[in-house]
Amino acid sequence: MNTQLHIIGAGLAGSEAAWQAARAGAKVVLHEMRPLRTTEAHQTEGFAELVCSNSFRSDDWQNNAVGLLHEEMRRAGSLIMQAADANKLPAGGALAVDREGFSRSVTTAIEDLANVEIRRGEICDVPQDEWGPTIIATGPLTSAPLAESIQSATGHDALAFFDAIAPIVYRESIDFSVAWFQSRYDKKGPGGDGADYINCPLDEAQYREFISALMSAEKVSFKEWEASTPYFEGCLPIEVMAARGPDTLRFGPMKPVGLCDPRTGRRPFAVVQLRQDNSLATLWNMVGFQTKLKHGEQTRIFRAIPGLLNAEFARLGGLHRNTFINSPRLLDGELRLKARPALRFAGQITGVEGYLESAAIGLLAGRFAAAEILDRPALPPPPTTALGALLSHITVGADTRTFQPMNINFGLFPELEQQGRGRERKQAIARRALTDLDRWLGIERNAAA
Ligand SMILES: Cc1cc2nc3c(=O)[nH]c(=O)nc-3n(C[C@H](O)[C@H](O)[C@H](O)COP(=O)(O)OP(=O)(O)OC[C@H]3O[C@@H](n4cnc5c(N)ncnc54)[C@H](O)[C@@H]3O)c2cc1C
Repeated sequence: MNTQLHIIGAGLAGSEAAWQAARAGAKVVLHEMRPLRTTEAHQTEGFAELVCSNSFRSDDWQNNAVGLLHEEMRRAGSLIMQAADANKLPAGGALAVDREGFSRSVTTAIEDLANVEIRRGEICDVPQDEWGPTIIATGPLTSAPLAESIQSATGHDALAFFDAIAPIVYRESIDFSVAWFQSRYDKKGPGGDGADYINCPLDEAQYREFISALMSAEKVSFKEWEASTPYFEGCLPIEVMAARGPDTLRFGPMKPVGLCDPRTGRRPFAVVQLRQDNSLATLWNMVGFQTKLKHGEQTRIFRAIPGLLNAEFARLGGLHRNTFINSPRLLDGELRLKARPALRFAGQITGVEGYLESAAIGLLAGRFAAAEILDRPALPPPPTTALGALLSHITVGADTRTFQPMNINFGLFPELEQQGRGRERKQAIARRALTDLDRWLGIERNAAA
């Protein structure tokens, strides 16, 4: 067994992976192409550069799933969290950082590790087996030659260059006195029972109002370098479809054919369909509703859809340039490529979304790889923790056919035995997560001793 770990990309995930693996005792070679070659968004040669916002979002572990992920990562000795805490700026309940100080702290901490060698240079091909254990953490802006090589290694349809995110709704917030379960023509597909979709009906007046709200809503524009990515034509935002004609959506994602509203006994004028998005059936995505509308506008306009008046969104829609693989199809539970287990993936390229989520997957990949090199058992975190919920969503929980990047949210956690609601439920999930995390960390410590 090759005892050296190669990590490609010193972003949020690669830096965290290098830190975790090196601190566990593995020898690491960290490859970073900047400054010799850069991406469309990075500006510096520092590790873990924040390419846009300087916020790590909510730091409230009791009520917010991102805050819970912060806390779990702190307890697991995360470098990203250590650097964030050391460079934090006043931002209310959010954890915002001085981006230069943050990146400097991460870079220095890694440079100071005796068992990490840093190599600057672009890696253009997926490494061959002689490299031994390798983590690919090259992010949403993976350089083109490497992206092509990943595509050859994983299959043409398993790597996306754009995400097309439709909003995701918590099932418990949908009003089932209006919405109903039914598949078109009651068709029983593979694994289905003829009632696989949640349907929200619109009458003609509601539909016309919805189209006019879409047309006048504020949109986020593409960055110049994103607009030229050809993949975009294949997944048009709903507002673009609406602009092509007032009935385009009614003959597209909102078509009512094969459906009958049980309240009226008739086919509705138009429908919004939601499809199950995780195996726990807590999250449902709005089919075909990828959008560039501003987040506030999405909430306002989608809550006007009958049945979604009180909808809570686990994720709002978006479209971005993004390189990510179909992880639930390609990766095993320890983030290894099933077809080539010496290769792991980490960060945004695995189909998580966000600085923290990317770093969290880097943390796990680094620990798993180190355990393997040091001949210790690799123990995935329980799915009741934020780390485990995210890992299990991207490796087994998400639907391979509709896989799109995901943020951490409470819908990814297994339900509690005793169902609560709202704030009380979140707090109970968070308490259970930290108890289970501490137990997992204890078992890991004993295995390493
Ligand atoms: C424009 C943009 C804005 C974003 N804004 C936010 C935001 O505001 N908040 C948020 O939470 N998330 C944001 N994200 C999403 C995401 O969380 C970040 O991109 C995050 O940095 C992902 O972490 P990562 O480690 O996977 O990738 P990165 O942090 O991008 O790290 C990947 C590293 O790999 C290097 N690399 C790439 N190809 C090669 C190669 N072939 N050889 C060697 N090195 C290579 C890159 O230079 C980079 O250092 C944004 C993404 C983009 C693209």
